[in-house]
Amino acid sequence: MVRIILVCAVAWILLRLVYRLFSGSPQTDVRAQDKQASKMVRCACCDLYTLQEDAIRGPDNKFYCSEEHREAAMINKDG
Ligand SMILES: [Zn+2]
Repeated sequence: MVRIILVCAVAWILLRLVYRLFSGSPQTDVRAQDKQASKMVRCACCDLYTLQEDAIRGPDNKFYCSEEHREAAMINKDG
């Protein structure tokens, strides 16, 4: 009898673990606000969100999605 309870308990724990893995964490909501993920930055030119490692940093510490947009922003600023 004790064995059955034990098996049931183990099965229950395993089930819960598997369920958790499949449902994922509920806080992975993609609401890209300014301070959300530390790795996402917004292009100062077109407002596109880019990974920080892919973004290009401008002279005034702003990020740009591409070299073109960085240059475009600089031209706009100077002009
Ligand atoms: Zn851009």
